[in-house]
Amino acid sequence: MNSANRDPYLLTPGPLTTSAETKAAMLRDWGSRDAAFIAMNRRVLDRLVELADGQSSHVAVPLQGSGTFAVEAMVATFLPDDGKALILINGAYGHRIATICDYLGRAYSTYETDEDVPPNPTIVAARLADDPAITHVIVVQCETTSGILNPIEDIAAVTAAAGRRLLIDAMSAFGALPIDARETPFDALAASANKCLEGVPGIGFVLCRADVLSECAGNSHSLSLDLADQWAALEKTGQWRFTPPTHVVAAFEQALLEHEAEGGVAGRYARYRENCDILVSGMRARGFTPLLDDTLQAPTIVTFRMPEDRKFVFTEFYDKLQDKGYVIYPGKLTKVDSFRIGCIGHLGALEMNGALKAVDQTLVEMGVQFEKVAS
Ligand SMILES: *Cc1c(COP(=O)(O)O)cnc(C)c1O
Repeated sequence: MNSANRDPYLLTPGPLTTSAETKAAMLRDWGSRDAAFIAMNRRVLDRLVELADGQSSHVAVPLQGSGTFAVEAMVATFLPDDGKALILINGAYGHRIATICDYLGRAYSTYETDEDVPPNPTIVAARLADDPAITHVIVVQCETTSGILNPIEDIAAVTAAAGRRLLIDAMSAFGALPIDARETPFDALAASANKCLEGVPGIGFVLCRADVLSECAGNSHSLSLDLADQWAALEKTGQWRFTPPTHVVAAFEQALLEHEAEGGVAGRYARYRENCDILVSGMRARGFTPLLDDTLQAPTIVTFRMPEDRKFVFTEFYDKLQDKGYVIYPGKLTKVDSFRIGCIGHLGALEMNGALKAVDQTLVEMGVQFEKVAS
């Protein structure tokens, strides 16, 4: 326990703070064949498709595990053995997709930009024109390494214009940043319960174009990651293959109801936007510098440059904030020393302002005095 005498607020890329009601929804044991569980599961999957306006084109296939399981399953199922991916990389999650392709033995090339630079759609188009072997483009919507928002609509447009297929890692975006399947062509999009949708961790899911998924049977090298097989079982019996995380599904339904009550994707975006604005302007006023321009910053997680003041020792800063009930996150950038503070999860203006107050107290305790930036 911390000196705040409560569970810490998780200002991280995940796991994230969830509501009391979402946690309470788990206080029941469900049988996987129970008709009530099967109906609940169906409601959850239908809602996920609705969030992307994909009712006429896509289905949601759930998968046990963390988000990476869903990304790996998406690549394994949709990128065939004789296909080739162009992976757009500007952070650790893009690199992870390349690692997944290494494990799976799938061919790929990469288009890498700096961690504070989004991929340029014109260059993507040129890369596709240059290499006819490329069948798929894979992009990360919000690269959580830095918090940068990548232009997936434009990437989707050039990919479709070149007759190629798009796979999206939308893990830290889905549910807060809009995507419309009727306007943005994609074969598959992977996300999870515990980022912007504020469920508990344990489920990933992939929105799959139904007509494409049915052609993907036999692509996956792995039984447990085969989304075509998972979907076939769900269609036939309403059940997951293998033990479903029943409690996590129940919590997910509650979290989705809260998401809807908040105004869906637009409502969730508005709260995260306010959280992010409070955080960025508050930290700037205290002398910290965000890595990204406001125009590139997704309202999900903010990367700050590590202050140069010798008295500012990150581990001490981290521990003292944790003791006050606020958990932040180390940086993951390769070139710049940094740390991150998240603005997603079941948190609002009260908690963000509380975090800034805890930063003030911590800086005093550390004896750090930055030159205040006029705001
Ligand atoms: C969180 C995240 C993932 C998945 O991470 P897990 O730790 O496996 O849940 C994948 N991609 C992005 C962009 C993420 O933010």
